[in-house]
Amino acid sequence: MNKVFLCRETQKGETRVALIPADIKALTALGYECAVQSGAGAVTGYTDGEYETAGAAVMPSLEAGYGFADIIVRINKPEDINGIRKNTLHISSFDVFNEKAAIQAYAEAGIRLVSLEMIPRTTLAQKMDILSSQASLAGYYAVVLAASRLPKILPMMMTPSGTISPARFFIIGVGVAGLQAIATAKRLGARVEAFDTRPVVEEQVKSLGAKFVKIDLGEMGQTEQGYAKELTPEQIEIQRKAQAKVCAQSDVVITTAKVFGRKAPVLLTKEMTADMKPGSVIIDMAVGTGGNVEGSDPKGDVMLDNGVLIIGGDSLERFIPKDASNMFSGNIAAFLTHFWDAESKSIKLTAADEIMKGCLITADGRIVHERFI
Ligand code: NAD
Repeated sequence: MNKVFLCRETQKGETRVALIPADIKALTALGYECAVQSGAGAVTGYTDGEYETAGAAVMPSLEAGYGFADIIVRINKPEDINGIRKNTLHISSFDVFNEKAAIQAYAEAGIRLVSLEMIPRTTLAQKMDILSSQASLAGYYAVVLAASRLPKILPMMMTPSGTISPARFFIIGVGVAGLQAIATAKRLGARVEAFDTRPVVEEQVKSLGAKFVKIDLGEMGQTEQGYAKELTPEQIEIQRKAQAKVCAQSDVVITTAKVFGRKAPVLLTKEMTADMKPGSVIIDMAVGTGGNVEGSDPKGDVMLDNGVLIIGGDSLERFIPKDASNMFSGNIAAFLTHFWDAESKSIKLTAADEIMKGCLITADGRIVHERFI
């Protein structure tokens, strides 16, 4: 199994490509035989010619690529599995928690499915971690987007014509995206406050020069993988009340609070957004998994009657496709390199490997991941 096929993305709004020419070149040098669907990199800015120069064959159609491939690579889950051959290894992000029927279909078709979001958050697997690579870019972009929609500048400015106070940012949820948002807002001169339910985050926030908002929610903690635990309705209510004043004083609120595999908690209610200042901007980065902000819309902007703008900030990395693709591609190349077996000149799917165990969802005609059986 060494034939890799890169597909053109079909999901509306997708701007990224799963492998860039530089990584095709590296994989070809390793021993993989690569092919790309014609136009796969066009939206991102890579031509068929660049892929050819890197060593890939250009396939005129998806069907031709499926016929060639042992391994299919793409960013998003495809609309259907028609034409994907039995025993093919399919690698993409998959939204596995919401796609139970699709997983079953892959199992029944004998397709081996790797879901990239399920790669364990371990040191060894860090270079394959699409959640981190994409979230850090999205966190950066959220600040740039907020700055571009705000009716004021971010830094303090003292001039003979007057003094401008710094914009106030409040970041709720300080994982990968939140940390990058704090760092970016600080670099641009904003005054930043932040909150996360995981106690270990306080030090990280302070080390970036931001202020940690203290809220006592009682017993908190994190899972083995470093994810937040789900709050009780009572704890969420305490958090909302404690945050309301900070939100009302902020020019920008960026929410990134997610709970892995579950719906995101609603942390800003209608009453809280109604109390915010006109011209304030909220970016709900959890909008794709239910949303942290009541009334946010994954399809776009919502302007409230009081002049507060809510932006549904799903997959913001799509606004910076070049860097997002470079990183995503690096993650996939690291995965294919990690499982390359030089002796057999093939990818080796060792079921006992911790990384493979974490992300292989279907194999041998059945669901093999313990979380989905
Ligand atoms: P995520 O996207 O699942 O969630 C974003 C943040 O929201 C998290 O920090 C979470 O604690 C927080 N959150 C959840 N509920 C909240 C609430 N009610 N209020 C406020 N905040 C809330 O998280 P992520 O960015 O994917 O990171 C998850 C963890 O994985 C972190 O601990 C991170 O350091 C760790 N991580 C480890 C590795 C590695 O070791 N290889 C790589 C990446 C991330």
